[in-house]
Amino acid sequence: MKVNFNQLDRGYYKYKKEYDEAAISVLESGWYVLGKNVLEFEKEFSSYVGSKYCVGVNSGLDALILAFRALDIGIGDEVIVPANTYIASVLAVTENGASPIFVEPDEFYNLDADKIEAEITPQTKAILVVHLYGQASNMRQIKEIADKHGLYLIEDCAQSHGAKFDETMTGAWGDIGCFSFYPTKNVGAFGDAGAIVTDSIEISEKIEMLRNYGSKVKYKNEILGVNSRLDEIQASLLRVKLSHYSELKKERRNIATKYLEGINNSKISLPQVRTSAENVWHLFIIQSEEREKLQVYLQEMGVATQIHYPIPPHLSEAYDYLGYKLGDFPITEKYASTVLSLPLFEGMTEEEIEFVIDTVNNY
Ligand SMILES: *Cc1c(COP(=O)(O)O)cnc(C)c1O
Repeated sequence: MKVNFNQLDRGYYKYKKEYDEAAISVLESGWYVLGKNVLEFEKEFSSYVGSKYCVGVNSGLDALILAFRALDIGIGDEVIVPANTYIASVLAVTENGASPIFVEPDEFYNLDADKIEAEITPQTKAILVVHLYGQASNMRQIKEIADKHGLYLIEDCAQSHGAKFDETMTGAWGDIGCFSFYPTKNVGAFGDAGAIVTDSIEISEKIEMLRNYGSKVKYKNEILGVNSRLDEIQASLLRVKLSHYSELKKERRNIATKYLEGINNSKISLPQVRTSAENVWHLFIIQSEEREKLQVYLQEMGVATQIHYPIPPHLSEAYDYLGYKLGDFPITEKYASTVLSLPLFEGMTEEEIEFVIDTVNNY
């Protein structure tokens, strides 16, 4: 047997008829960018998250870049960011000319709330949390810190659609929540797409302008903007996906529960689950001191795995200029050398799940 790391077509075939109808009706409508489907999706998504406003954009990275831009965070400003994250989160800070200040993760792979305050300076303008792998960061404590120091709180929810801390969804805790709908994400489109959510009408209107050349009224440009619009086909497909997301969330949770109960191998540690939170299992991460050997073994036995992420942002070539070196963030670096992601995707069969468990246990 062979288990792929992901198989996106299974997600498509599951609701093929609905996806086909949605896309064709856009093709037949003659209106392809920023139309009815985008407006409806924005309404549906903000109401799902529990925020007042949603603005669709081109990608998750654009959502993050425009979030910092809308708050006028740029040159000379510092932003607290998790050291343990995907580089896109940090690119959004540096793209605006601001400086990322890295903070080590807790045992749940997310920003360690106890280590934030030591890094706050008069230049600090915001805290960026990333709810990595589908599990919410420690939001109650982080929000308290942001409020106490008068900092903006921005959430990278690219991996955490529908995840909760206490009863509040990720995206609804901060000043701005940023989402990616890249095809592999939990709420995935069939191309690039993203969105921001916020309770602030000012922020929402500013990002609406920023995504469309800085203009609210055609040919009247109030601010310097970009082109980062969500197209009608992606929005129509996202509406279908969102309407089924509670089932899809359950499906992911079932797979994760089977892994948590079934995997039992002393050379492997399982993910720790926060009790006050609802995890949406974007990725299922195990850890092993023998990660490379384990990955080769699993590959040979037919189980594809990936590493999220092998090189932390502070050690990326692109960030050489920040001057960090190996040893600066030891917890993050340890994760980077021991984490391994098992297959967990929409449409995975019982046989495939069992096969992954048995193969991992036989290592
Ligand atoms: C995917 C991802 C992004 C970027 O989203 P795109 O839509 O690919 O631009 C940002 N942050 C995190 C944590 C991600 O996983």
